[in-house]
Amino acid sequence: KRATLLSATSGPGKTSDGHAVGLLANIGGVDDAVAAGAQDLEGVGLFRTEFVFLSAKTAPTLEEQTDIYTRVFQPFGTDRRIVVRTLDAGADKPLAFADLGAEENPALGRRGLRLSQARPELLETQLKALAAAASATGADVRVMAPMVATVEEAKWFADQVAAAGLPKSGVMIEVPAAALGARHVLAPVDFGSLGTNDLAQYTMAADRMQGALSDLLDPWQPAVLNVIKAACAGAAELGKPIGVCGESGGDPLMALVLTGLGVSSLSMAPSKVPAVRFALSRHSLEACQRLAESAVSAATAAAAREAVLSAADPEL
Ligand code: PEP
Ligand code: MG
Repeated sequence: KRATLLSATSGPGKTSDGHAVGLLANIGGVDDAVAAGAQDLEGVGLFRTEFVFLSAKTAPTLEEQTDIYTRVFQPFGTDRRIVVRTLDAGADKPLAFADLGAEENPALGRRGLRLSQARPELLETQLKALAAAASATGADVRVMAPMVATVEEAKWFADQVAAAGLPKSGVMIEVPAAALGARHVLAPVDFGSLGTNDLAQYTMAADRMQGALSDLLDPWQPAVLNVIKAACAGAAELGKPIGVCGESGGDPLMALVLTGLGVSSLSMAPSKVPAVRFALSRHSLEACQRLAESAVSAATAAAAREAVLSAADPEL
């Protein structure tokens, strides 16, 4: 009884029947890393590296980057994983030194990995710095690319990561094309990570910067859940882990649905970890699968959430 209570409030994430679901932090720099490192969580599921350079006028040097990444990795020692996302510049996160000129539709333009392909020297320097910081600290570092749509892009990225001497690569699944094609897109890499913020934006054709469209951007939209389900099925076919690093992973009810759909880790603002850990501890994997099925088959976002709320543990 005491052990059950303890596991509901501390330690690694798991369902009531012991199915592991990694509980990870979303971070944006050194201060976040120091704060998250002191928390009871299993590592970092998303380090948004572009946040560090939002005000930089010129491209950060290899030395500057190595210093920052070293300080980000240190708080997690050598046993907690750190998933680093390479620069996701463009659209809602413009970087002065990685500007390819004005575009009519920046969210559909050369952002994320597309920008890295246009400016490969930026990616090369970043990967070198990450490799240097990883070897200086002994940290368990895995690198992933944003805004991937095709298997060719995934392969290109995996090759760059391997050339830099980094052991593991992954891709974000935040474009519906990558989700629907996960069976192929994940083949060249070691893992996938669902970015539910952009996945909702691109599935619903609703600009995430438009507050007036927030109903369409609701991650409970059954269409979004069905796209996530397809991505999880593709990852499962390959036997590759797929996590979630979009904001929806921090919603305890949604965390149950995502677990039921097959994700193996959830990354979120560290303050959200305890409530998600508790929710998982109150449901078996099979219960999560039932909740997921009811959400995926609902007609509306409100109905999906209501179906899960009414069937989940009333203590949530
Ligand atoms: C996402 O799109 O869900 C995501 C995690 O990345 P960002 O919010 O930084 O675009
Ligand atoms: Mg994104």
